[in-house]
Amino acid sequence: MEYITLGKTGLLISRVGFGGIPIQRTKVEDIPALFAALEREGINYIDTARGYTVSEEYIGNAIAGRRERYVLATKSMARTAEAMAADIDRSLANLQTDYIDLYQIHNPSPADLEKVLAPGGAMEALEAALAAGKIGHIGLTCHLTEVFERALDIPQVETIMFPYNPVETQGEALMEKCREKNIGFIAMKPLAGGAIENADLALRFILQNPAVSVVIPGMYSPEEVAQNANAEGKLTEADHAEIEKLKNTLGTTFCRRCNYCAPCTVGINIPGVFLFQGYLERYGLADWAKDRYGAMAKTASDCIECGVCEDRCPYNLPIREMMQKAKAAFGK
Ligand code: SF4
Ligand code: SF4
Repeated sequence: MEYITLGKTGLLISRVGFGGIPIQRTKVEDIPALFAALEREGINYIDTARGYTVSEEYIGNAIAGRRERYVLATKSMARTAEAMAADIDRSLANLQTDYIDLYQIHNPSPADLEKVLAPGGAMEALEAALAAGKIGHIGLTCHLTEVFERALDIPQVETIMFPYNPVETQGEALMEKCREKNIGFIAMKPLAGGAIENADLALRFILQNPAVSVVIPGMYSPEEVAQNANAEGKLTEADHAEIEKLKNTLGTTFCRRCNYCAPCTVGINIPGVFLFQGYLERYGLADWAKDRYGAMAKTASDCIECGVCEDRCPYNLPIREMMQKAKAAFGK
């Protein structure tokens, strides 16, 4: 495992970190084996969030008594000082620790970010927690380049997390600015929300960029930990050809399964529709996709084209138009 200093934080971390979303569906009895695999592979960077239901708690239980082996990063959607202070205390309790190495402002919109920075905003609570030794550093996560650019100029922000993978390279110029300013860059969505199937290729693509401090693939099992930890080696000509093919197949208007569009007015599982459509059209799993799609309580044909979801999608996807295409593909 390669280790790197996370920007100006000075934290020494593994370049492959543990993304804490999938642990939500790991069986409690399987978690010790998952963490044994992390230790075996030398992964010491753990990313979670207040918003990932039981993730903080599961991680807290797993690392109890071994906390010092890990660099812990979590995040909160709180925008006011009061709500952020409460979330920091909740995270500390869940993670069973008295300090968190990195606390991040979770995916603010441009308007949210102004609220965070205004008097009475979440930044006040983060600075107070920093002064009290409850947290070690402040970071920010986002999906929009506009927010990324703004975050580069916020003096308290020591790390920025943004999507980066072979088909989402829109942050590359700003990642370079992180490097110039010694702000740690954390690559999220390494598999483009599941749209990329070849994890080894995606991770090698990401890690070959020196502007990336750490990449945080979600890990569900010891096998996934081993696979992700061992992604190394230069990109070959065949790899570049596969990346070109991926770009052409996926384009830019594909769903990253972030679920920020929820809830749909009529109860459609929006990322689910696009996931099954991907399997129908791209991965040779048409029968499986039709079965799963057919079992959904609501499908694309139930869309009333209200457009509410499009206002929430950070990628500005034309969801209504995409629903029409899914309806045509599945015939319902
Ligand atoms: S436009 Fe369709 S998919 Fe989007 S919220 Fe409205 S009903 Fe749901
Ligand atoms: S449609 Fe947009 S907001 Fe919804 S899951 Fe996909 S990328 Fe995320």
